[in-house]
Amino acid sequence: MQSTETRSIQYLDKAKNNMKEEIVIIGAGLVGSLLGIYLVKEGYKVSIYEGRADRRLEGVAAGRSINLALSDRGIKALEKVGVMKEVQDICIPMHSRGIHLADGKYIEQAYGTKGQFINSVSRGELNNILMNIAERSGVQFVFEHRCKKIDWDTNTIHFSTSSNKIVEKKTDLIFGADGAFSASRLSYQLKHDRFDYNQFFISHGYKELTIPAGENGSFLIEKNVLHIWPRGNYMLIALPNMDGSFTCTLFFPYEGANSFASLETPEKVKAFFQKEFTDVEKIMPTLTEDFFNNPTASLVTVKCFPWVLEDKFALIGDAAHAMVPFFGQGMNCGFEDCAVLHDVMQTHKGDWKKILAEYQTLRKPDGDAISDLALANFVEMRDKVADTKFIAQKKLEAQFHAKHPEKWIPAYSMVTFSPEMRYSTALQKGIEQQRIMDKVMGDKEMDVLSAEMEAAILKELAD
Ligand code: FAD
Repeated sequence: MQSTETRSIQYLDKAKNNMKEEIVIIGAGLVGSLLGIYLVKEGYKVSIYEGRADRRLEGVAAGRSINLALSDRGIKALEKVGVMKEVQDICIPMHSRGIHLADGKYIEQAYGTKGQFINSVSRGELNNILMNIAERSGVQFVFEHRCKKIDWDTNTIHFSTSSNKIVEKKTDLIFGADGAFSASRLSYQLKHDRFDYNQFFISHGYKELTIPAGENGSFLIEKNVLHIWPRGNYMLIALPNMDGSFTCTLFFPYEGANSFASLETPEKVKAFFQKEFTDVEKIMPTLTEDFFNNPTASLVTVKCFPWVLEDKFALIGDAAHAMVPFFGQGMNCGFEDCAVLHDVMQTHKGDWKKILAEYQTLRKPDGDAISDLALANFVEMRDKVADTKFIAQKKLEAQFHAKHPEKWIPAYSMVTFSPEMRYSTALQKGIEQQRIMDKVMGDKEMDVLSAEMEAAILKELAD
């Protein structure tokens, strides 16, 4: 007869054996670094292998300043693991869209209700903060190790180093957080005979440009706003930086009359901006240098399945669901992946087969939904935000929401300010709400909610 103590030691050993001893994350980007923090805080031994050199050693001044919109879903995931306090210091709130119309008029459209806003954050600084916290928490970083392939029989990752050496790392569990063109995903795809893979590029690319700070670090256009110059088939946007500058992004066709291909000289670029973006061209002194020095980058959507392999491997972040940036959700969605994974870890303590299976079941539909919403939002941002009927609809929806907050949340708010709602639910509700608005508005462009219209919306919702 075994003593109670012996049995409980055996039980603990068994539980421990069930635990993955060592986890390797491939990719020290935004999502890989946050995932490292989540996992190390759960007691795992975590290493992150990054293909590039340590970006923190490059110094603040190195490279271009690129910023991202951080919103409620991302913030919730950062708060859950206690890192939002440090991130807060680099956040610039953006309360509205600032629309610069082609005729020179400027209007602001609030993103949500009072007190709701999104945040402009520097991608580089955010990544550095997350890496520093991960390192302080016990995550080991290995740089200049690029994943080439994974041997699935032994769960061994093959890395090539900056000196072209091949290094092998065998481990219990691997997370592929290596971005939109993930090598770990490709390696899995080659192993799995029914791996669904869909990758498509839109006909537009993007280029980053700059509005410098004014005197004493002042902002030359409204600071707490995400600026948009919608021009139908293309658009320019600008997000504020802490130093008073703005990072602008031109989303523009690769080919055609107005395109990257057609603007092939500095004179043509200048003339085009003077005509199309008159107000902002005046405050972009390095426009033509930026235009020809900065790369033109493509915009890809990637959908794939499965995301996981037994209890050995899972994709996360852009590696699982790369999307176009028009809803400002790619990073937010990747951060939410980490929080959801953490939730299911609490349910299936140490049983990684169950954890990964449930993570995939929950996140795959949401990854697909936000990818589709992001594509649809391109048309909204570059074209519809300047359309009078669209503006009227947004005002009506805001008034209906104020009266019936439990019955109606505008589509943008469901995605951006309702982290308790799944992306897939937001997509379905958004489609239904658009159907209702199309029906009750018809050809009308009134922007004050009449009692008749309110009743018509309520009836549609009840049916
Ligand atoms: P990544 O950021 O791509 O990081 C992957 C990491 O893996 C990198 O460090 C890379 O060096 C490393 N790596 C790659 N291959 C290997 C390999 N073989 N071996 C080892 N390491 C490797 N999202 C938002 O939420 N809000 C926004 O406003 C927003 N704006 C955007 C604007 C633009 C123009 C673009 C293109 C994207 C935007 N996004 C935005 C999306 C956001 O950038 C991504 O969703 C986010 O960066 C994904 O993070 P990640 O860690 O999954 O991938």
